[in-house]
This record gives sequence, structure tokens and C-alpha cells, in this order.
Amino acid sequence: ILEISHRSKDFVDVLEEARSLALEIASLDKNEYSCLFLQGGASMQFLMTAYNFLNENAGYINTGSWSTKAIKEAKLFGNVTEIASSSDKNFNYIPKEININDTYDYIHITSNNTIFGTQFNTFPNTNSPLIVDMSSDIFSREIDYSQFDLIYAGAQKNLGPAGATMVLIKNSLLEKVKRDVPSMLSYKIHIDKDSSFNTPPVFPIYCILLNLRLIKQEGLDNISEKNKIKANLIYDEIDRNKCFSGFSEVSDRSQMNATFNMNEGFDMELFNKICSNNNISGINGHRSVGGYRASIYNALPIESLNVLVDSMKEFELNQ
Ligand code: PLP
Repeated sequence: ILEISHRSKDFVDVLEEARSLALEIASLDKNEYSCLFLQGGASMQFLMTAYNFLNENAGYINTGSWSTKAIKEAKLFGNVTEIASSSDKNFNYIPKEININDTYDYIHITSNNTIFGTQFNTFPNTNSPLIVDMSSDIFSREIDYSQFDLIYAGAQKNLGPAGATMVLIKNSLLEKVKRDVPSMLSYKIHIDKDSSFNTPPVFPIYCILLNLRLIKQEGLDNISEKNKIKANLIYDEIDRNKCFSGFSEVSDRSQMNATFNMNEGFDMELFNKICSNNNISGINGHRSVGGYRASIYNALPIESLNVLVDSMKEFELNQ
């Protein structure tokens, strides 16, 4: 893959299988939607979505740091209405019963809030096109992907290595583009060029293909079930253990990032030591939340959750 031309049949076959599998897994019609593998991360999509589709006014639901960053970029291109926000409680919940009466160029949401550990269970009902940043929960559950007009996801959580960003876009959305967009930022050009306007990130795409084959083989329904079991394991322990409390509202808890804090009076250093002895790493919470965050993406086996839960129990016994 690293030695052959990205225009060679061998690589084009890889790219085409990956594009087609992604649409198939999402149950999206190939004639209605296109799949792209772009560069620049999900952060590039913050501005690319707005550059292409924000003509006058777009509606954003602000559920955390990533939504806030998306809003900041969008404001460079037009008006942004924050139609709902959970910033009043440090983003520990998902706003409910959002009334979207006006028509917007599009509505933008972040389906899973990686840092705060909240996740949309149901999505806003709207007549405006719905754009979703699905970077941290893509293909983790069975949902109706066709309710979205554009889905983007940085590869690095559930898809493959960093370096590619997957975009699933409804072709009819292109009719909304009113301004001249530079070629590299134009969805239309990337679609017209079959996701090879310039050299695509060939190695991440190859790894994504291997992973998509696995996802198809396992089935989104089974993956969903496994993720539910994993999330229940950790949340049940957070709720049971007197040393810890969950960060986010119970109904909005993320199945990908379980955020929790240590209750006052307990010894954080001891817990850190137990975790390290049990080979657990990377569970410190983001600095804006503190505490702990167990990221339990598709690839994490149930056994790892058991080790974490046992470590929490061991800690409680030593108090
Ligand atoms: N959106 C979400 C929900 C994320 O979790 C992240 C990164 O963790 C990003 C956007 C930013 O992605 P990238 O680093 O690929 O630009």
C-alpha cells in the first residue's frame, strides 16, 4: 500500500471497497449518499461544513468542547444560532425537547461528547439538514444513519488510525452550496473525483477497510450489544462503589466515554497506584472535567472493563 500508486487498480480497489462498505454498514443508499476519506481531521470538518453550507444562519447544539470549537469556526462564515446548550452545568447533560421552529441552513450536533461523557440517544427532529460530528461514536451502535444529511468522523476512535476523516454525505446537500469554495474544501470536487482529488491517506484507508470488514462481519447489532454490556459494567460499579460518582446525567451517559470522579476523602494516589499495578493507563479525565474517563471504544475488550471494575473494588476494600 505504501509503495504503489494511489491511482493504481490495487489501491483504487481498496478505496472503493472501503467507501462502499461504510455506506453499507450505515444502511445508506449508494445512489443517495457518497463516502469520502479526507484529511485534516474532524477539526477540518468544523470549517468545511460551514464553508460549504452556511449561507445565512446555521443552528448549533452546544454540548461540549468539540461543539464549541465547531461553533467558533462556523462563525467565520455566517450567523450561528446556539439553539440549545448544556454549558450551564459544565456540559454534563444533553439538552432535551429542543424546539427547532425556524429553518436553518443546517443544524449541527456532536453525537458523543468525548470529553464530558454524554451522548445523544435521540436526535433532533428538524426540517433543516442535520449535520453530525460522530467522531467518537461512529459505528458503535445501531441507529438510523439516514436521518443525517452529513456525518463526519475522524478515524482514530472506532475506524482506524489517525490521518483520515470519513464523511458520509447526502448528494442532494450539494445543491445548497452558494459560494465559491477552494477545491480542497469542496465536497463536490471530492465527490466528483471519487475521494481522490489529491493523494488520499492511503495507509489509514487500508486499515479502515480491514476494520470495516470486521464491523460488517460482526454486525452493528452485535457491536451495539457488546458496547451496552461494557458500559453497564463500568456504570454499575460507579453507582455501587462508595468511593466514586458519575459525572454526567444518568440518562445521557455515553457508551464510549465513562466519566467519573472520586468522592471527597478518598486517596487518589492509592487508586492511581492500583490502576498502574493492574496495567490500566489513560484513564485520567480531561482537565476541564477532572477525575477519570474510561474510554471504552469498540476495540476495547470486555476483559479490560473487568480489570477496571476489579481495581475499583480493590480500592474500596483498602479504604
Ligand atoms: N470531534 C470529536 C467529538 C472528537 O472527539 C474529536 C477528537 O477527539 C474531534 C472532533 C477532533 O478531531 P481531530 O483531532 O481529528 O481534528
